[in-house]
Amino acid sequence: MSVTPSILALDQGTTGTTALVIAHDGRILGRDYSEFTQHFPRPGWVEHDAEEIRDVTIRVARGALEAARNREPHRVEGIGITNQRETIVLWDRETGRPVHRAIVWQDRRTAELCRTLRAQGKEEEVKRRTGLLLDPYFSGTKLTWLFRHRPDLARRAEAGELACGTIDSWLIHVLTRGQVHATDPTNASRTLLYDLESGGWRSELADILEVPAGILPEVRPSSGDFGVSQGHYLGVEAPIAGVAGDQQAALYGQGCWTAGSAKNTYGTGAFLLLHTGEEIVRSQHGLLTTVACDARGQPAFALEGSIFIAGAAIQWLRDGLGLLESAPDSEAMARSLEGNDGVYFVPAFVGLGAPHWDPDARGAIFGLTRGTRDAHLVRAALEAMAYGTEEVLRAQEADSGVRAPELRVDGGAADNDWLMQFQADLLGIPVQRPAVVETTALGAAGLAGLQVGLWQSPQDFLQAQGEARVFNPQSEVDHRERLRVGWKRAVEAARSFRAESGNH
Ligand code: ADP
Repeated sequence: MSVTPSILALDQGTTGTTALVIAHDGRILGRDYSEFTQHFPRPGWVEHDAEEIRDVTIRVARGALEAARNREPHRVEGIGITNQRETIVLWDRETGRPVHRAIVWQDRRTAELCRTLRAQGKEEEVKRRTGLLLDPYFSGTKLTWLFRHRPDLARRAEAGELACGTIDSWLIHVLTRGQVHATDPTNASRTLLYDLESGGWRSELADILEVPAGILPEVRPSSGDFGVSQGHYLGVEAPIAGVAGDQQAALYGQGCWTAGSAKNTYGTGAFLLLHTGEEIVRSQHGLLTTVACDARGQPAFALEGSIFIAGAAIQWLRDGLGLLESAPDSEAMARSLEGNDGVYFVPAFVGLGAPHWDPDARGAIFGLTRGTRDAHLVRAALEAMAYGTEEVLRAQEADSGVRAPELRVDGGAADNDWLMQFQADLLGIPVQRPAVVETTALGAAGLAGLQVGLWQSPQDFLQAQGEARVFNPQSEVDHRERLRVGWKRAVEAARSFRAESGNH
């Protein structure tokens, strides 16, 4: 009986870990998922227990491997890791155990610290070198905070007793039994410590953030050698051969490897990345510059824009207002109308992200009449995802001078055919949805599979994924323009109504 060569892909996300066993012909042989505990020690603080992440990840990896074994004989040729980005773990080199809870990307405890660093004029250098902003979102200031609040840890870090890393590094450390302390450029580029131009850690940045350089992991190519997982945890020994942050892994998994290729993930929020090839494009429109992968998993660059509220607006209409039973019902409701009848919904519940960056904007619905029904609000929430996506894509194109010939899509709300057609109509370019929507795990698998020779070429990997569904643009240019103008006016109106503190 033949044995199917496969890759174990671990997608360590913010709420849970997914493990997939992916065969060389693209079939998913096994799958498992589990959530883990979120810790909120104070308002605005978010922490994870790195040891729980380790245990959950190993459990789902074993679950997926077992499901695959029950299905057919297979052999794991390599392991790919993709992860929630920016979340930082600090551990003891000797015992291998964390010395503090992981501080999660969502954690806002360093807002004041970021303001101080900005007031000291540090932002320009940080921006120029890293392509990021001084925001609590990124890992760097979380380390500053740790060392300032725990002088004992600062002393131990200086003495070389501690190691730090994002979740990818932590899992590599776990699986290799502490033999390898490494990360990849896509994760490194989210720390505020990584220099885009020289492609490595930068001591000036470490000095600004008071981070001892000795605690940082070695940066290795995303498709590369991250050591061998030891059998004690997974029951299989295999090289860890692919590593990338979740958004960059999805970009890779979607086959976006060259300048002009773009993907959007429609989840709770939306993450749009435009590949810019070898070029480091500095944004004039509030986008981030980040490291991505080229076809071979070597470092390349992308522009990234996030929309804070996307599918969450549908969630709010469902759970907050009770207008629909389930998110997929939104499709039939939107279709039940000929047009939007002038109703626009700006879901700026937490301010506006790219390209507006307006923290004080708040959500608003415009154009209500006696004829407005639940379907109008639902349709307007779906349309808002498409308008927001267009704004970010246009900003990316303006920054880079590159035009996207098509948009690849994934995430929960990309299931909505009506939305995908509307998106294609609005953008005037085809929207392409892959057969396997777990593009994040797939990307990590692709990077690993390429390195270990499971796929001979990047094209082989992509071909194994099966046929994508394509939504071609159909609407008139005039019609599109009218919608855009309506949305623009709605955004302006929502922004002019500022958030105020307190009740009236
Ligand atoms: P995340 O990874 O951010 O948790 P998912 O990719 O799982 O998000 O997507 C879930 C989001 O997508 C939810 O906010 C939900 O309201 C929305 N969603 C799911 N299915 C649909 C659908 N068919 N139409 C519109 N929105 C949807």
